[in-house]
Amino acid sequence: MGQVANRRYRLRHRPAGTVTPVDLEFGEESVPSIGPGQALIRTLWLSLDPANRIWMSEIHYNMPPVPIGGIMRGFGIGEVVESRREDMRPGDLVSGITGWADYAVADATNLAPFTVLPSPLPGPPGSLLGALGHTGITAYLGVHDIGRPRPGETMVVTAAAGAVGSVAGQIGKARGARVVGTAGAASKCDHVVRGFGFEACVNYRDADWRDQLDAATPDGVDVIFENVGGQVFEHLLDRLNVGARIALCGLISEYNSYGSPTPAQGRIGVDQILMNRAELRSFLVLDHIDRFPEAVDYLRGLLDAGTLVHDETVVEGLEHAREALNQMFTGANTGKLLIKVAEPTSVR
Ligand code: NDP
Repeated sequence: MGQVANRRYRLRHRPAGTVTPVDLEFGEESVPSIGPGQALIRTLWLSLDPANRIWMSEIHYNMPPVPIGGIMRGFGIGEVVESRREDMRPGDLVSGITGWADYAVADATNLAPFTVLPSPLPGPPGSLLGALGHTGITAYLGVHDIGRPRPGETMVVTAAAGAVGSVAGQIGKARGARVVGTAGAASKCDHVVRGFGFEACVNYRDADWRDQLDAATPDGVDVIFENVGGQVFEHLLDRLNVGARIALCGLISEYNSYGSPTPAQGRIGVDQILMNRAELRSFLVLDHIDRFPEAVDYLRGLLDAGTLVHDETVVEGLEHAREALNQMFTGANTGKLLIKVAEPTSVR
């Protein structure tokens, strides 16, 4: 392996806003060599997640910040190319924290352990990071545990064209709710309604988005699946019905302000939560690993029944990962955003 290069991103500075090549340096180094209890993983697919941006800041979210000088953290799917572990053989496909690099070492020091995937794979690799992976499971937990939409209720999902939002809305539909999305382009709204079956979708970049949202929720709002924060969330709180539930999944509109001297859009008032005896609960998918099998069974059932569509945006080449992450914050993706890093070589 010695002569093969390991392309990787190392965090050199905590970004203030958009991530620059100075913050996140792309370069080459030698492929790590492995010892007893270790396996060498070659990254095939990399999942881009809003959490990548949080991990670059000083905030401790679900994991400690990526240390300055460290390889950028990211979930992915890879193949085992060398192994000195009993439980992994060359050719196995694994999922875990591959990092933003061609190669990773799987051992007992990993922040989350690598898992050997079944052969044949239970779905296309992209779906195992998307609708059947951590993003789909996030949607499942937020809708079933917190949102709990009932038939006929109105559920609003923000960032509805994205990985988590598209699945959350489709689960809401499967439970019989009337689901309304918000997204940042007319073409995305079209995709949300035609592709994912939402009843309506409002482009929050339109000047009259407030009127559109009011018209799309004539009976008020019973469930919010919140991915964004900011003005749309604030407006939705003013439309809550008594006994509404809010699944606080993410606040992507704030993440690029982490580390920046310019503050985020502002904090949300909580008075409407009080007035409507509403329930607001946040959650983190990685706190519920014991529930992943239950969630995947449910999601697979919807996929097999044709009630759930997995959608993905694939960017080819590890060298485009930084740019693709930045574009996630300007809305370039629909569905799960993935980097295709390499083709498998020796998979059984
Ligand atoms: P998405 O696939 O939804 O991609 C992010 C989308 O967010 C973009 O496509 C863009 O869509 C929208 N967006 C970005 N910046 C802004 C902004 N400033 N204002 C409004 N919309 C914006 O990402 P994910 O599905 O992976 O994540 C969605 C949310 O779920 C995030 O908040 C993330 O942190 C959260 N999350 C939470 C987890 C948990 O365990 N609680 C686990 C995984 C994700 P558009 O063009 O419509 O603006």
